[in-house]
Amino acid sequence: MVNEELWQAVLAQIQLNISSANFATWFKNTQITSQKNGVVFISVPNSFVKEWLEQKYNKIIIKILRNLDKEIKDVRYDIGKSGLKVFKKNPSVIYQEGQLEFQEFKIDSETNLNPRYTFDTFVVGPFNELAQAAASAETNLNPRYTFDTFVVGPFNELAQAAASAVVKSPGQVYNPFFVYGGVGLGKTHLLEAIGNGIVKNFPQKKVQYIPTEKFVSEVISSIRNHQIEKLKLAYQAIDTLIIDDVQFLAGKEKTQEEFFYIFNSLYEKNKQIILSSDRQPKTIPTLTERLKSRFEGGMIADISFPDFETRVAILRAKCQERKTKFPEEILDYIASNIQKNIRELEGALNILIAYQKLNGSLPELKTVKSLLNNLISSPAKIVNAKKIIKVVSEFYDLKERDLTSSSRKKEIVKPRHVAMYLLREELKSSFPFIGRKLGGKDHTTAIHAYKKISNEIDQNGGLPEEINLIKQRILSE
Ligand code: ADP
Ligand code: MG
Repeated sequence: MVNEELWQAVLAQIQLNISSANFATWFKNTQITSQKNGVVFISVPNSFVKEWLEQKYNKIIIKILRNLDKEIKDVRYDIGKSGLKVFKKNPSVIYQEGQLEFQEFKIDSETNLNPRYTFDTFVVGPFNELAQAAASAETNLNPRYTFDTFVVGPFNELAQAAASAVVKSPGQVYNPFFVYGGVGLGKTHLLEAIGNGIVKNFPQKKVQYIPTEKFVSEVISSIRNHQIEKLKLAYQAIDTLIIDDVQFLAGKEKTQEEFFYIFNSLYEKNKQIILSSDRQPKTIPTLTERLKSRFEGGMIADISFPDFETRVAILRAKCQERKTKFPEEILDYIASNIQKNIRELEGALNILIAYQKLNGSLPELKTVKSLLNNLISSPAKIVNAKKIIKVVSEFYDLKERDLTSSSRKKEIVKPRHVAMYLLREELKSSFPFIGRKLGGKDHTTAIHAYKKISNEIDQNGGLPEEINLIKQRILSE
């Protein structure tokens, strides 16, 4: 138990500092197997991971471990000697010997399902246990996400109220229902709460939750296998379709086309469609106009940042869920320092809970500060020209080299101007510097871009909001 808690605390911190793709690649199927004389033994699934952790993450892993337990001196990585935990449907957890990673497998040409991916072989690590523990095979909903555990404050009350209305009469009031907001602010939680609510109120209705990335890969492989008509038919049998993070449809023309078809056929039959995105429909790049106007045709609600009181209320609620308590002073400290991401609030709490379990006592504020040091003064919050260019190009679904190119295409020129504007606004960079950073342009070009964007912002279209979303991302990455 102690090993598991300890590793969970380490993963909680690492997860906040690296991209989720990297996290999954390097930390999936890892765990602490034992500790001896101050050495922590970590089991890893294969030699690539071993090498990578040793070379890239060893320092930070040791640092975090020492923060939690001063006795720890060193870390050793071993390839899958220990049993991996395997998830059974019931959902009791059993332990199985050996590695699952290198099994041969084939994809069923009929269903396009990989027979290897069953609940029996779904490996649960401490980091995904909570999120995946019992995601229903039928609806793909995680039962943990409900309205009961969703704290409401001024920042999300509109979205929550509309969501409740959808649960009461799916397909009747707000269709589609579109929720947007930044990372870690509760979009997935709210969407799944709607799904779980509908399942409860209308057991006969078929509810399906799907992340957009998964939808895209379903469409692509169905096209490849000439199964697309079958896929579309399957979607038409759904009564409530929940698609998370639709910004990932950007640039996927073929998928958008199929989605448009599925959307219309459900919509015409008054089936409820629920969507989320990190931004408003109109600012999703390369989303076809017809999809934009479909998305805008129902109710759009945003989730912004929680105020201080709500952040404390969320921490209290999470403590209650975890059956633990921390003094006001500590909750205030966390809430004052983590402002823009509820997942990070939870992460902070996880670290403190792990400490509490390991040491059998509550940490003092001084200790809390050092435990949360990584999280709170994250070096990633530094803003520089490189980061601005990176975030702007990602936001508009472009390559960085598009921004720095000399292309005069409309869909590139505007993002380039926005990047120039932000370099000036956020970093007070000189115009010659800005011109150079964007591929050796003249300083007059940078001045022109800055003026142009400033004027447009004053004219009060959608641009100020768009710029704010980009700024939020620059600050939260
Ligand atoms: P998003 O999808 O917007 O990135 P999530 O829905 O995954 O964010 O939320 C991140 C974490 O924060 C989840 O564990 C979720 O349960 C929690 N969370 C978000 N909003 C709330 C809220 N209003 N009340 C309680 N927990 C929340
Ligand atoms: Mg989400």
